Amino acid sequence: MTIQVSAEHATVAPPPVISHWIGGRPIEVLPEQTGPIYNPATGEVIGRVPRGGAAEVDAAVAAARAAFPAWRDLPLIARSQVFFAYRELAYRHREEMAALITRDHGKTFPDALAEVLRGLETVEFACGLPTHLAGMNTPNVSTKVDAHTLRQPLGVAAGITPFNFPAMVPMWIYPLALMTGNTFVWKPSSHTPGATQLQAELWKEAGLPDGVFNVVYGGRDAVNAILVHPGIDAIQFVGSTAVGRHVFETGTRAGKRVAAYTGAKNAMVVLPDADMDLAADSAIAAGYGSAGERCMAQTLVIAVGDAGDRLRPMLEERIDRLRIGPGMEPGVDMGPIYSSEHRASVIEWIEKGLAEGAELVADGRPFHHPEHPEGFFLGVTLFDHVTPEMSIYTEEIFGPVLGMVRAKTYDEAVALINAHQYGNGTAIFTTDGGAARRFELEVDVPMIGINVPIPVPAGYLSFGGTRGSAFADVQMRGEDSIRFFTKQKEVTVRWPEPGKRGALSLVFPGN
Ligand code: NAD
Repeated sequence: MTIQVSAEHATVAPPPVISHWIGGRPIEVLPEQTGPIYNPATGEVIGRVPRGGAAEVDAAVAAARAAFPAWRDLPLIARSQVFFAYRELAYRHREEMAALITRDHGKTFPDALAEVLRGLETVEFACGLPTHLAGMNTPNVSTKVDAHTLRQPLGVAAGITPFNFPAMVPMWIYPLALMTGNTFVWKPSSHTPGATQLQAELWKEAGLPDGVFNVVYGGRDAVNAILVHPGIDAIQFVGSTAVGRHVFETGTRAGKRVAAYTGAKNAMVVLPDADMDLAADSAIAAGYGSAGERCMAQTLVIAVGDAGDRLRPMLEERIDRLRIGPGMEPGVDMGPIYSSEHRASVIEWIEKGLAEGAELVADGRPFHHPEHPEGFFLGVTLFDHVTPEMSIYTEEIFGPVLGMVRAKTYDEAVALINAHQYGNGTAIFTTDGGAARRFELEVDVPMIGINVPIPVPAGYLSFGGTRGSAFADVQMRGEDSIRFFTKQKEVTVRWPEPGKRGALSLVFPGN
């Protein structure tokens, strides 16, 4: 990688051709087996990424299977030492990783840096693996009989990840899969491969044995091969709802353990007693940060009572102040959309909103960056008087489009959130502790912010949604992922006292 990072941010040289990473080394492919990588800020093709399929998945699984017994049997403290080394390296390379994310995705450099650091929280959690993997021991479950619990790795785990967090989301999956003793096959998004390649290289440098961590690029073919591959035991997926449902259904039908964390449409409630400046700042940050391309973006504001009339001019004033431009430019608030196709799709959603009768307060469509006319830029859009029947209310847009909904009461606001097809994150803005307490008890969404707009739990806690936002029995990360990536055994043990023999009995064993 040839990237220099200075206080004035980074300059990123054209990347080499990105390669699959199998058995601890890059696997070159022919140019015709690659697709373009775009810099969304300029619209230029900046590199090539492989398009893998069943053959590459086979090779990666074979490498992971071969590496599994030795990795499983490595003393816990030795495994933990590799994690510490990886954490130090990734931290040292955090700006380089962030610059690659900005280059491929478009989000601003500070936002990308924050992503890397939030991802590292879960790597740091994994460093303490000897404690997390301790089992239970219960003496005297019967006369002179003891019992203990074992947690063992499943074998080979796969992670399938989206474009929007090329470091953080994978770092929510692979540390837990690896720390529990599994080996890993990662199918990342092809849109943001720079940070992926760097993560693979850093694992190698950290001393991870070859074959424990493998990367296969590709789309539908690679994913479908993973879903039915007999050498893969468990899959965690993060991405859109349609693909997640397919991954869950196909993978579980093939006998695998699968958890899919999917799309979202999050709403924040603003009560009339809220600190309106905080609520307005939060709505702008949560709605337009990373161009709305976050599964925890709050793209609906449910304003209760007169909160909407007071909030609206405050939102407009803040929208006027936003700076849109290349993510590496200091002072820029929002970068481009990640692809030209997605930009066109967001514009279609804005047109749908207009056709459905929402009031267009700010229109992002005319925005073009003067120096980068070919970049995938879009301004920010604000709709008011969005109603639950509109598709811009029900569907995920995944772009910088914020919709304000008016509700008469707190109860109406909560009922709206609980009836939505998605349930990932939500927030309430209020100075009334009683209302906040009711909200956290009554709202049927797992990740809740009280005056916090993007309530992504800390990296050692669990993360995950409900309804259309997850197809999973457990949440991601934390204790849930430790259980997900391991199988449990209950061992019942009798050691007869020296010199004594047990009596023959056909009675079902009791106490
Ligand atoms: P996506 O579903 O298009 O892609 C996710 C992964 O699936 C990628 O690796 C991609 O290559 C693969 N894929 C794409 N189409 C496929 C197909 N037809 N068959 C098999 N595999 C396919 O998602 P995306 O556009 O990369 O990411 C955005 C989506 O991810 C949004 O819906 C967002 O809400 C969601 N997301 C959810 C969370 C969460 O934790 N719930 C976090 C981040 C992103």
